[in-house]
Amino acid sequence: METFEEHYASMKAALSKHLTDADMELVEKAVEYANAKHRYQKRKDGSPYIIHPLAVAQIVAEMGLDRDAILGALLHDCIEDTDASHEDIEKIFGSTVAELVEGVTKLTRANFSTSEQEQMENLRKMFMAMSKDIRVVLIKIADRLHNMRTMQYQTPEKQIKKCRETMDIYAPLAHRLGMQRIKWELEDLSLRYLAPAAYDEIMSYLQAHKEQDETFMNTIQQKIIERLDSMGIRNKTYGRIKHVYSIYRKMQAQGKTMDELYDIYAFRVIVDTIPDCYNVLGHIHDLFNLVPGRFKDYISTPKPNMYQSLHTTVIGSQGIPFEVQIRTWEMHETAEYGIAAHWKYKQGTGAGSEKDFEWVRRLLESQQDSDAEEFVQSLKIDMFDDEVFVYTPKGRIVSLPAGSTPIDFAYAIHSGVGNSMIGAKVNNRIANIDAKLKNGDIVEILTSKSAKGPSRDWLTICKSNQARTKIKQWFKKEKREENIIHGRASFEAEMKREGLPLTALFDPELEGHLLKKLSFENWDDMYAAIGYGGLTATKAVGRIRDDVNRAVKAQSMEKLPQSPLRVKPDSEAVAQNRHAVNGVIVEDIDSCMIKFAKCCTPVPGDAIVGFITKGFGVSIHRADCPNTQSRNDPRQAARWVRVRWATQEEQPFETTLELDCITRDGLLLDVATVMTSARVRVKELVGKDLPGGRSMFTVRFEVKNVSELETIRQKLLNIRDVTGSRRGQN
Ligand code: MN
Repeated sequence: METFEEHYASMKAALSKHLTDADMELVEKAVEYANAKHRYQKRKDGSPYIIHPLAVAQIVAEMGLDRDAILGALLHDCIEDTDASHEDIEKIFGSTVAELVEGVTKLTRANFSTSEQEQMENLRKMFMAMSKDIRVVLIKIADRLHNMRTMQYQTPEKQIKKCRETMDIYAPLAHRLGMQRIKWELEDLSLRYLAPAAYDEIMSYLQAHKEQDETFMNTIQQKIIERLDSMGIRNKTYGRIKHVYSIYRKMQAQGKTMDELYDIYAFRVIVDTIPDCYNVLGHIHDLFNLVPGRFKDYISTPKPNMYQSLHTTVIGSQGIPFEVQIRTWEMHETAEYGIAAHWKYKQGTGAGSEKDFEWVRRLLESQQDSDAEEFVQSLKIDMFDDEVFVYTPKGRIVSLPAGSTPIDFAYAIHSGVGNSMIGAKVNNRIANIDAKLKNGDIVEILTSKSAKGPSRDWLTICKSNQARTKIKQWFKKEKREENIIHGRASFEAEMKREGLPLTALFDPELEGHLLKKLSFENWDDMYAAIGYGGLTATKAVGRIRDDVNRAVKAQSMEKLPQSPLRVKPDSEAVAQNRHAVNGVIVEDIDSCMIKFAKCCTPVPGDAIVGFITKGFGVSIHRADCPNTQSRNDPRQAARWVRVRWATQEEQPFETTLELDCITRDGLLLDVATVMTSARVRVKELVGKDLPGGRSMFTVRFEVKNVSELETIRQKLLNIRDVTGSRRGQN
């Protein structure tokens, strides 16, 4: 059990190095505040609770984070465990600190369950918080690190649960953020509870060989330092045993015992400049025997988590192989503290840059199209596993998820390469396309123009999401003919349902515009998209509905005679349903939105015209408004429609009916009587004898509307010997 005073003193010492006096005062205030709030709480080991936030703040300070992050760390459990509120903290320490504490609280409340579905939800929350402010995640990782360091006081159940969570979430996150040192510590602490026997075995082996190991490492270290010093290269060189969990993994992967495991030693050479790194590499290869295929240049090709170093494995005089990592001080800082180090350099320019969060964003983007399981899968592949670096025959480095095959490689080069692949060579030898690629392999893909394309098995063989997506795409395209047929059927059915003519699609003036609106090159492409489910027919028709309607209306206007009464049979229904909106009747459009143009404010009685706007119905202008000039522009003409005031007395329209009759005396009089009793004005009434005892009467008269016309037509048909009628041409 440690005392509060000890912790406080050691933390203060760490902080005073890079905080101002004013900042230190705030820190003291936060310690007092947290201590007061947590005063009734005890740690599991019986020590005062404040020890925990102090330790977390210290870890955060060691990461090199700023004052607000340290304050956030000190207060991180206040909202969750005490009566402190966001507002309280904001009032005393400012909104940034309050946001940080709130963010950590949210992550604490997120229950990281073992079920993948739920884990994904929580991971997503975590990432969201992270994209908002990376410091939240860094404080949370520090929190977990301290909890892991004091895990011995928890129940066995809780130990297992927390350690699994640490291995599943926190260690990979620390790795991805480039915080190697924290990642190792989290892994080693977890292993201690998850595989205690193996952990003890490794630890006791290391303990038993401690002296031997140290002697070995000292010899090598001296040899390197001597050489570099003599060459005038400033360096810090030291050896270390690889961390317990990585030794454990090597034993598992290679099925070996500690005795059989050789590469557990690693040496680190830290120098001032990048040229020095390559110089040192030369000297190392000169001093010791190189193990082929183990050299990795992460300086020219940094890992996605920003890690940079040269790695090489060599064999010393005793025949024991060891790894040497060569890096600059800046690379070292990044390797130890990862994004935190990077973030530290950026201090003063605001929290975190766009680039820092790029991978978070990429993850968020990549999850949008996939379902939950695929997302978790992609996280595991893209985030939780290491990569493998292989070469093209021309020496380009391709990074793939560990366990990748030549199929993944082919699709990483280009989907065309993958789709025409017939085989592969690895290191110049024919290899199976499902062979697991190793670091440094040179991979060559054999292609053929007559290749049949990927097989469905490839989907299960390949390891990268990229390859899987591209193979799926190929299958989509391959079934194109079938997709077009299905897609076309459902699209046409939807057009019919909406009452839109299919002919509009091929109207030379309209076709290009509609396709553009749908973002397709041609109709087959769109049908194919509907066919494979990339687009629904309803959505497609919805996008072009208004344009087709507008065009259909504009076209029927052009074909109309000048008379205001439509004589085309198909316009009758429209005329009947036509009604006034806002006192204005828009010819040919039975119901639409009306607004009065602000430029000329038409009033009833003015001569008016209507303009079909995009999305706002018809706008009414005075006929003499200058803004109606575009009526003369052929491109705009179709959008101008005739409108009139509904309050005006309806103008009578002139129309013509032709009556088929059996010839008899008095028929002309009967027709004239019907017309008179209907109180319509007859302009013309003529009869004509036809062969076979038949005759035809033509009546030209005025009506107010189509329904009046229909009433009169019925009355005329009721006259004996009138056998039929049709609308005549004016
Ligand atoms: Mn905590």
